[in-house]
Amino acid sequence: MARIVMKFGGTSVADLDRIKNVARHVKREVDAGHEVAVVVSAMSGKTNELVGWVQNTPKVAGADHSIYDAREYDAVVASGEQVTSGLLAIALQAMGINARSWQGWQIPIRTDNAHGAARILEIDGGEMVRRMQEGQVAVVAGFQGLGPDNRVSTLGRGGSDTSAVAIAAAVKADRCDIYTDVDGVYTTDPRIEPKARRLKKIAFEEMLEMASLGAKVLQVRSVELAMVFKVRTFVRSSFEDPDAPGMGDLLNPPGTLICDEEEIVEQEVVTGIAYAKDEAQISLRRLADRPGVSAAIFGPLAESHINVDMIVQNISEDGSKTDMTFTVPSGDVEKALRVLGENKDKIGYDVIQNESGLVKVSVIGIGMRSHAGVAATAFRALAEKGINIKAITTSEIKISILIDGPYAELAVRTLHSCYGLDKS
Ligand code: ADP
Ligand code: ASP
Ligand code: MG
Repeated sequence: MARIVMKFGGTSVADLDRIKNVARHVKREVDAGHEVAVVVSAMSGKTNELVGWVQNTPKVAGADHSIYDAREYDAVVASGEQVTSGLLAIALQAMGINARSWQGWQIPIRTDNAHGAARILEIDGGEMVRRMQEGQVAVVAGFQGLGPDNRVSTLGRGGSDTSAVAIAAAVKADRCDIYTDVDGVYTTDPRIEPKARRLKKIAFEEMLEMASLGAKVLQVRSVELAMVFKVRTFVRSSFEDPDAPGMGDLLNPPGTLICDEEEIVEQEVVTGIAYAKDEAQISLRRLADRPGVSAAIFGPLAESHINVDMIVQNISEDGSKTDMTFTVPSGDVEKALRVLGENKDKIGYDVIQNESGLVKVSVIGIGMRSHAGVAATAFRALAEKGINIKAITTSEIKISILIDGPYAELAVRTLHSCYGLDKS
């Protein structure tokens, strides 16, 4: 007997038939004698709809740019998961399985106060575990928790993955299965490159890079938690026949295992390609080249919660003036320009330029640590396709390249094939 956490994403619970199908996956594990907690997302599209409603509410009188109360945003957007957790509990009961739903506040899943992007601080799973030991399936609403202000909080988009891994860590589950609409983690997004291959295993560090560089198959924070708490996490499909052979295999279920790099026997140099759309570039021209200028730029941006990503500073030709270019999410450009405008005197630049609709494509692989020439291969392949590179950043296990938006898919496929990822 084992203890298993099963998470089902939005497409897996998109309607009542799919919820019934999810119940069959759960039944399989219950029938095998396991203790089961299930974490569900909202029906696909639901959270977008709820977010849209909040964004279209009237602005607070007198407010210039803060649009709505983040605590009420959470109260609204957390509701999608409340619905699916209840519906799945009902579907399980209809199959004769003892089950109940749990909202984040009922467990409770305690988070910090960052409404809209809260972090889980603590989960008191005692009562839930007691009931699981009595044979009751816990159906937990993902994405939500309880803030220190005693208000409902949400964990940021894609946050149900994090709910699942955090619960698996808290209840010391033997396994956490993330069921989604693909049957594992692929060498790149299979929607962009049909030749992408499913990986049997991927190292935590690589999955962390893939997720933070745009592969939304797992929320970044869920991978961090899996790595820190050593949660055995699999990504697998909810669309396969729940009763097909091997689906209930305890040690080797179908799908991709996220694991320590030591567990991977044949490590490739490059493991995968990720991309992130909607990047924007901002350039400050003819800045004074003096100590403190970076702090004067990025301090106020950070205080305004603007996530700056790639940063490129030119070496000054004459020692007095330089240029600084960096990227932010397209949605933050206006805010960033306003903040930089307000701080123009302190920073001391000549003009600001900006460009939206850019894409960052990234090459990821632990094998890069010990192999030279990985970056040169990418640059050559992109050049052959006439794709211009606007900025580059590298770390030990990744190379990120900023390009024009319309070239995104071509660039992903080009990089995917130049490292032979399309060949098994
Ligand atoms: P869920 O609703 O189940 O949480 P998501 O839409 O958040 O599902 O994540 C699954 C999607 O992630 C897939 O449909 C796929 O298009 C996308 N994806 C992006 N990169 C990858 C990758 N490297 N491997 C697998 N899926 C990926
Ligand atoms: N429903 C939430 C979202 O769409 C959380 C999740 O699906 O993981 O972001
Ligand atoms: Mg998701």
